[in-house]
Amino acid sequence: MYSIDLSGKGALVMGVANHRSLSWAIAQSLHKAGAKLCLTYAGERLKAGVAELAATLPGTLLLECDVTNDASIDSVRTRLESEWGAVEALVHGVAFARKEDLEGAFVATPREGFQLALEVSAYSLINVTNRMLPLLEKNGASIVTLTYLASERAVPSYNVMGSAKAVLEQSVRQLAYELGPKNVRVNALSAGPVSTLAARGIRGFTDMLKMHAEKAPLKRNITKEEVGKAALFLLSDLASGITGETLYVDGGYHVMAW
Ligand code: NAP
Repeated sequence: MYSIDLSGKGALVMGVANHRSLSWAIAQSLHKAGAKLCLTYAGERLKAGVAELAATLPGTLLLECDVTNDASIDSVRTRLESEWGAVEALVHGVAFARKEDLEGAFVATPREGFQLALEVSAYSLINVTNRMLPLLEKNGASIVTLTYLASERAVPSYNVMGSAKAVLEQSVRQLAYELGPKNVRVNALSAGPVSTLAARGIRGFTDMLKMHAEKAPLKRNITKEEVGKAALFLLSDLASGITGETLYVDGGYHVMAW
């Protein structure tokens, strides 16, 4: 019988803001599978809330990590090196774009808004992977990042976040190619819309949820728990032959022509 047992494996989960976060759903499924967890939060503002969540998963480490700050990423690596010695799973659930850059005309995206969105939402996958590599390559590892269909389709209001997701998915393929020989797998999970803090920043998000539910073959929206389960699969040995892939967890929405 196949099962997923991650006992003794260390999982670094980045991007938990609150109980709605997709990264939180993934953290919960990793915990159920027996993994040791480290959650990171972006700034002091979120610390108390994330600490409350972390406390519900006994043994979970909680560290600050701003992905725009190399010293902050390196201090997570140093701490995990001394606590665990190796990291077998990395979840990258981090993204950011300024509100004004998701509301105005895409054609008028200012340079700073473009750079910031690409840095936080795409470059961070490359940089975090590189800085964690000594720990990831010790026993081999699986990395999962979170993406959205706006990487390949024009989606109203997604603007610069669509650009960031296109770069993110290309980075997944290039990293998969480069890190495969080190037994480090890299995949993206493309989620359908789920109401989270980041998603609520997109204008018209509620209408989008309705439209997705109507058009998707499953005739409903997905849940964050479904994202958690699919990510667990990619992070586990059941997906040992899969790398460089974008796996859609969207009720089948992306296969529809209209
Ligand atoms: P979320 O709960 O708001 O998570 C986004 C996370 O990114 C937050 O924890 C946020 O922290 C963090 N972050 C932003 N800037 C950061 C920085 N400089 N350093 C470290 N962390 C930073 O929203 P979510 O929907 O779960 O988003 C997780 C991922 O799923 C994102 O990549 C998103 O694009 C993707 N996704 C979401 C959906 C959806 O419909 N929800 C669909 C497809 C893909 P702060 O709150 O402190 O900024």
